Amino acid sequence: MAAAAERREALKAVWEVARGCVRCPQLAEARTQVVFGAGNADADLMFVGEAPGANEDRIGRPFVGQAGKLLDRLLGEIGLDREEVFIANVLKCRPPGNRDPLPTEIENCSGYLRTQVDLIEPRVLCTLGNFATKLLRADPAGITRLHGQAEVRVVGPRAVRLYPLLHPAAALYTPAMLETLRADFARIPELLELPMPEQPTPAPEPTPEVHAAPPEEPAEAARQGESAPQLGLF
Ligand code: URA
Repeated sequence: MAAAAERREALKAVWEVARGCVRCPQLAEARTQVVFGAGNADADLMFVGEAPGANEDRIGRPFVGQAGKLLDRLLGEIGLDREEVFIANVLKCRPPGNRDPLPTEIENCSGYLRTQVDLIEPRVLCTLGNFATKLLRADPAGITRLHGQAEVRVVGPRAVRLYPLLHPAAALYTPAMLETLRADFARIPELLELPMPEQPTPAPEPTPEVHAAPPEEPAEAARQGESAPQLGLF
């Protein structure tokens, strides 16, 4: 198990690669910036949403709009705040017009997410909505049927306790969904108390290399890093 400082450095190295990614030309062209994810690199609890929206694309952090405010509120209700958890998305770039992620985009981006899970080693991995749930369960079953049912799943090289939840954006304007999401959230503390799931094989050393565009020149990467709000949060 990696020390917190090592995780943070490894995550930063992946971010350096991801922020220059051009695997999805349309997304790379349209984005303001890559929204890699933010929070505690040593978190026990990790959330995975769908993709950045306009606010996230502008600010560079996940879940900063109304859905994010709801997520913060629900975290507060279980005694946590966002700095204690790690929040990422299936896609790291905003799909133009907030359209759904395309299968090729999900495939192109999935290496980053698996590497994040591998490095952070969360005890509980909450998938928010259909895209994250289907990707990380590798199964087409939908969130309406699966929400609130924790299960052990292998993500990348690791077994994690996966906990599908309704997407907060869906719960924003539908009181019944909000109550369901709140009830599912209330079970997170007890899931965090469970032992780590047994690992399938000895996990190989996490590696920051992901199949992506070559990293930028170090000087340029460092210069951009000074203004990147995500880096300071890991
Ligand atoms: N903001 C995000 O970062 N992800 C979502 O899925 C929705 C809003």
